[in-house]
Amino acid sequence: MDAKLLEILVCPLCKGPLVFDKTRQELICKADRLGFPIRDGIPTMLETEARELPADEEIKA
Ligand SMILES: [Zn+2]
Repeated sequence: MDAKLLEILVCPLCKGPLVFDKTRQELICKADRLGFPIRDGIPTMLETEARELPADEEIKA
């Protein structure tokens, strides 16, 4: 995951910053508690593709 690419990517919902979860290969929006999958190195920035993070799931990074 390119660090510069990560800098320009924002959450499509709240336009907030995202954090990269290396383990799950997801971009996480802490505000919305959504995880956007990265497939073949390409972030999927679609709300419909995002995973809702369970309330008990710890957000790393
Ligand atoms: Zn968001």
